[in-house]
Amino acid sequence: MERADVVVIGAGLIGSSIAWRLAQAGRQVVLLDREEPGAEASSAGAGLLQPEAGREARSETLGLWLESLAMYDGFTREVREATGAGFEYRVTGRLVTAFDEAQEAALRTRSRAQADAGIPFEWLSGDDVRRMEPSITPDVRAALYFPQHGLVDNRRLVIALAQAAARAGADVRAYEPATSVATSGGRVDGVETPNGRISADAVVIAAGCWSGFLPPGPHGESGNQGVGDATRSDRFVGPAKGEIIALEARPRPIERVISTDGASISARGDGRIVVGATVIPGTFHKEITADGVARMLAAAVRAVPSLGGARFVEAWTGLRPKSLDDQPIVGADRVAGLFWATGHFKMGILSTPATAEVVSDLVEGRTPRLPITSMSPLRFER
Ligand SMILES: Cc1cc2nc3c(=O)[nH]c(=O)nc-3n(C[C@H](O)[C@H](O)[C@H](O)COP(=O)(O)OP(=O)(O)OC[C@H]3O[C@@H](n4cnc5c(N)ncnc54)[C@H](O)[C@@H]3O)c2cc1C
Repeated sequence: MERADVVVIGAGLIGSSIAWRLAQAGRQVVLLDREEPGAEASSAGAGLLQPEAGREARSETLGLWLESLAMYDGFTREVREATGAGFEYRVTGRLVTAFDEAQEAALRTRSRAQADAGIPFEWLSGDDVRRMEPSITPDVRAALYFPQHGLVDNRRLVIALAQAAARAGADVRAYEPATSVATSGGRVDGVETPNGRISADAVVIAAGCWSGFLPPGPHGESGNQGVGDATRSDRFVGPAKGEIIALEARPRPIERVISTDGASISARGDGRIVVGATVIPGTFHKEITADGVARMLAAAVRAVPSLGGARFVEAWTGLRPKSLDDQPIVGADRVAGLFWATGHFKMGILSTPATAEVVSDLVEGRTPRLPITSMSPLRFER
């Protein structure tokens, strides 16, 4: 039987970065993906790095986002050094715009939440916004400006991370799905794959929105059921589809990321203007709808009218891992040696560097360097 110290299930940004950190620490790591590494949400996302306080984040989740943003510069540098990969990463700043009175009032509330959390921002008048980004519609009334927000080319980053893991010694395997997590006596034994069992002391479930399909077994053994028990019908992590499009316009009409009511618009180094994204929970079907594309195009052209003349390049979709309470699932299972790292929902690209650190801490038996108690998978236990 094959043996590893740790098996990481899922080679998206989250799983690959964890595998990389553990391999760097000298662990024998197997990183499994049922497809090519990075083929799912991690390459579909918009790549925006935009932590904000507000109703979407509990305080520990916000702490993870902010720490991750602070780590991004060093993290991307390290990935480049480890692999030689080139990919875009820029602190662009981000404008959250208001076009009418109601949006301006909502923005005021949003600004108070940032102030309370100590997140740097500026309140800009419509004229200020137009001075900063002359292509924005004259209808703009106000904006919140986040100078620290930015973007990364997640499509390339996720490939580079799997390479970095492999170069650090991890055994990265494409097209080898985990079929279940093997347990005995209340602790993890390893992972079953179509090629047999890989026995391991620790297993990390980082299978994105499919993580809920990986229940530990055997089932029915008293005290031995992990929180992902197969008998549960209410899976605590599932998909939230996102549709997203790219246009092309040269010279690029905007420098900063622009967030409006219906879309986030960002200009990339390669000339693409990425406009995203819809949020449709509860479906594993990745079709692109005319309605989704029409709404994103309308929101983009409303904010930056010259985009009406941009070339349409592509549309695609991905499935965000969404937990029942929209917060990440990062922590130890009741089954000893089993760890969860999923549920990052709209912020998984942002959350990658810090999640890799805290999950390596957990696997190595250290106290995690950030507080993550509220992210425990045990909160979903019945
Ligand atoms: C349209 C869209 C826009 C987004 N925009 C942003 C953004 O701007 N900023 C941001 O921070 N986040 C954004 N996100 C969210 C972000 O992309 C995700 O939160 C993040 O990529 C999740 O990473 P992951 O590694 O957990 O999941 P995934 O990338 O989905 O990786 C999971 C992997 O597990 C594999 N897998 C599944 N089951 C098994 C199995 N049984 N055995 C082996 N492997 C398995 C899959 O093949 C997959 O490769 C966006 C997402 C979408 C869809």
